[in-house]
Amino acid sequence: MYGYNMINIIDESQCCGCGACSIVCPKECIQMVPKTLGHFFPKVKEDICIACGKCDQVCPMKQKKKKQNFKQIAYAAYAKEPEIRFAGSSGGMVGAFSLQLLRDNYIVYGAAFDSNLQLKCRKAAKESDLAILLKSKYLQSDLICQYKKIKDNLENGKKVLFVSTPCQAAALKGYLEKEYENLLTIDFFCHGVPSQQFFDQCIKIDSRRLGGTIKKYQFRAKKRWGGVTPHYFSAEVEVNKKRKKITKIYYKSSFYAVFQKYINFRESCYNCQFANADRLSDITVGDFHEIDRYIDGINRFDGISTVIINSEKGEELWKHCSKQIIQYPVDLKMLISDGICFNGGTKKPKNREEFVRDYNNKPFKELIDKYVGQQKYWKHAIYYSMPEFFRKQLKKYIGI
Ligand SMILES: Cc1cc2nc3c(=O)[nH]c(=O)nc-3n(C[C@H](O)[C@H](O)[C@H](O)COP(=O)(O)OP(=O)(O)OC[C@H]3O[C@@H](n4cnc5c(N)ncnc54)[C@H](O)[C@@H]3O)c2cc1C
Ligand code: SF4
Ligand code: SF4
Ligand code: SF4
Repeated sequence: MYGYNMINIIDESQCCGCGACSIVCPKECIQMVPKTLGHFFPKVKEDICIACGKCDQVCPMKQKKKKQNFKQIAYAAYAKEPEIRFAGSSGGMVGAFSLQLLRDNYIVYGAAFDSNLQLKCRKAAKESDLAILLKSKYLQSDLICQYKKIKDNLENGKKVLFVSTPCQAAALKGYLEKEYENLLTIDFFCHGVPSQQFFDQCIKIDSRRLGGTIKKYQFRAKKRWGGVTPHYFSAEVEVNKKRKKITKIYYKSSFYAVFQKYINFRESCYNCQFANADRLSDITVGDFHEIDRYIDGINRFDGISTVIINSEKGEELWKHCSKQIIQYPVDLKMLISDGICFNGGTKKPKNREEFVRDYNNKPFKELIDKYVGQQKYWKHAIYYSMPEFFRKQLKKYIGI
């Protein structure tokens, strides 16, 4: 024994599930295993562990956060090219940055579903590979498969753009151990992630409900003449070997409906260490839903992003891409005080513990009916069938 600590997660709020510990272990004795609501946690085979402490040292939850020595700058922005804006969840900013960087011979890493709807960190080395990386996916992606490859790319002098949740950015940086000039990172305002297991279970029951098999799924689907709000999803459903595409409001998808209740996230998301203004990434992006409070005349229904520049590298990227972006400077302090960004993580819903108990004890379909049964959404159905002007008035009085 060398006298260091191995990782030992007793309190689930102390692990963001990044898996970095399992990758650095020289004895390969850490396995990631599913626990509460299917979220993954490390489990050490103690008889093999040599107590080298590497797992403990790499853990982003235990690192002291280094403040970047840069005065952050904030913008409201969207991609000038309508198709790129359309392809993003909000203003298509990740798409605009990625396209420019691919042209500059970068490799882009982001989250994409594979053919079995498993969300993984995947790479795009050419423009035609980019589409699947774009758009938010509201569940935790598997980064374990890429740590080593990203490090190899960087060591071999390849230029890399890495897009991820803030905790994954911290995990990657901890794993890399040093700063790389050839690495750019983008994270987003993040309020929490459900597990892949929960997503799989929802896909199964929704497939059954739709009389087929859901083969593809997209969050934040935009309607050509309907815009980004409310949230829509789209899915490709295979029925009798024929595929049909559906696009519906979020609460028609069991997973999306539960996600919007903030009830099935990792414990670490309710006490997030990364949702504040001290960002490790070069650029942070988010949705600018409240744009009309700051700037008149922007069509928020086509999507608009908040962009925070966190470093010199981020500023260079911003300037380099500026011809592809419509941009409006905004006061960061005002955004923070208005709660538009960096507002410190998600408050745990009061019925979270009950939800976890029900998840463990009830058939899955019963759980879904109890928490997001369609009968609960009759007010939403009326509300969203109205033009936006009426919706705004109603919001004041009914509070949907
Ligand atoms: C789980 C989650 C929670 C979020 N919470 C908020 C929030 O509370 N407030 C807010 O303003 N914005 C939030 N966002 C960000 C928002 O949804 C948009 O992604 C953001 O506005 C950027 O939009 P875009 O059009 O520029 O880029 P997009 O085209 O949407 O690009 C998003 C990028 O993020 C990567 N990505 C998507 N999902 C994941 C994932 N699960 N794990 C790792 N990487 C991923 C993709 O590879 C893609 O490159 C969240 C995003 C996610 C994934
Ligand atoms: S202490 Fe070392 S050997 Fe033990 S689990 Fe951690 S990394 Fe592996
Ligand atoms: S946060 Fe990451 S490194 Fe830390 S214990 Fe959890 S999986 Fe391991
Ligand atoms: S809320 Fe925090 S802990 Fe949860 S996924 Fe986002 S950055 Fe990670």
